[in-house]
Amino acid sequence: MPLHRLLRDLPIDSKGAMTGSIANRILLQPRSLSDALKMLRDEGPLTPLAGCTDLYVSLNFGTLKETRFLNLWGLDALRTIDVGRDVLRVGALATHTDLIRSKHVQQRLPMLVAAAREIGGVQIQNRGTIGGNVANASPAGDTLPVLAVADAVVVLQSAGGSRRVPFNEFYTGYRQTVRRGDELIAGFEIASLRGRQWFRKVGTRAAQAISKVVIAGVKDDEVRLALGSVAPTVIRARRTEAVLARGASIEDAQQTLLDELSPIDDLRSTAAYRRRVAANLLAGFLAS
Ligand SMILES: Cc1cc2nc3c(=O)[nH]c(=O)nc-3n(C[C@H](O)[C@H](O)[C@H](O)COP(=O)(O)OP(=O)(O)OC[C@H]3O[C@@H](n4cnc5c(N)ncnc54)[C@H](O)[C@@H]3O)c2cc1C
Repeated sequence: MPLHRLLRDLPIDSKGAMTGSIANRILLQPRSLSDALKMLRDEGPLTPLAGCTDLYVSLNFGTLKETRFLNLWGLDALRTIDVGRDVLRVGALATHTDLIRSKHVQQRLPMLVAAAREIGGVQIQNRGTIGGNVANASPAGDTLPVLAVADAVVVLQSAGGSRRVPFNEFYTGYRQTVRRGDELIAGFEIASLRGRQWFRKVGTRAAQAISKVVIAGVKDDEVRLALGSVAPTVIRARRTEAVLARGASIEDAQQTLLDELSPIDDLRSTAAYRRRVAANLLAGFLAS
C-alpha cells in the first residue's frame, strides 16, 4: 500500500499524531528537523520513516513489529545536495531520482548515479532515499559499496548535536549500525575522489532485482574496492587492495578476493556463484 493511502486511512489527532486501525500504529508528523529531533528525544522510541519503500515491504509481510513512527518525508532540510570546496554533501532524504538528476553527483560521484539507476523501478527511485537505503542496513543495498569505496562520512544528528562517523565504521554486524535511537542520519559527506569510478550490480534481471553481488571500485595510483551481498555487511576488500598495491597479478588479486569473501547461499543465489562472479567482476575492472 502506498504511503499516501496509509496517511489517508489514519486519522490525525490534535497534536499531529496519527493513530488508526492499521494495527494501532502511530505516525508523528514533525514540522521541522528540530521538531523531529525533539520528538525522537522526548517521545521515543520512534522508527524514522522516509520514502517507506522498505518499511512497507515489512508491513506487507507482517514482520513490521514497530508501532510508533516519525515521518521524515516533509523535512526538506534533509533533502539538499550541495558541494563545498572539497566535499559533496548529500542529504539523507535525497531520493534515488534526486541522485540521478543532480549535476553535483553526476560530476563528482558518477558511480552513485550508476547505483541509483539500478535501484528498483522509477517508482522506487522516486520514493526511496539514500538515507533509507543506508539505515535499512541490508548487505544488498546498492548505494552501500559506493559510499564504502568513497570513504564517505555519515552525519548523525540528535537534539544534543551531531557527530560524524566514517561509513566504513557505521555497520557493526548484520543489520546492525552505530546509530542511536535518538539520532537521525542527516546526510553523507564525500571528499573529492581522483581516478576512475566503477559500479556493477549482478542480479536476476537488469532492474527490479535485489543484487546477488554488487561492487564499486576506484582506480587511481591504487585500487579501492567495496562489495555488497557477499558478507553480513558491505565490505571494503582491504586485503585485495593491499596485494594490488604491492603489484599482484589479476589472478592473485582474484584469489585474495575469494579468500576475503564470506557470502551465503540464499534464495537469490549460491555462495559459490557469488564468489565466482565477484572474482570475474574484479578481473573485468582491473583489465579495463
Ligand atoms: C520493489 C522494490 C525494489 C527495490 N529494489 C531495490 C534495489 O534494486 N536496490 C536496493 O538497494 N534497494 C531496493 N529496494 C529497497 C528500498 O527501496 C531502498 O532501500 C530505499 O532506498 C529505502 O529508502 P526509503 O526512504 O524508502 O526507506 P524507508 O522504508 O522509509 O526506511 C528504511 C529504514 O531506514 C530507516 N530510516 C530511513 N531514513 C532514515 C534516516 N534519515 N535516519 C535514520 N533512519 C532512517 C527507517 O527507520 C527504516 O528502518 C527495493 C524496494 C522495493 C519495494
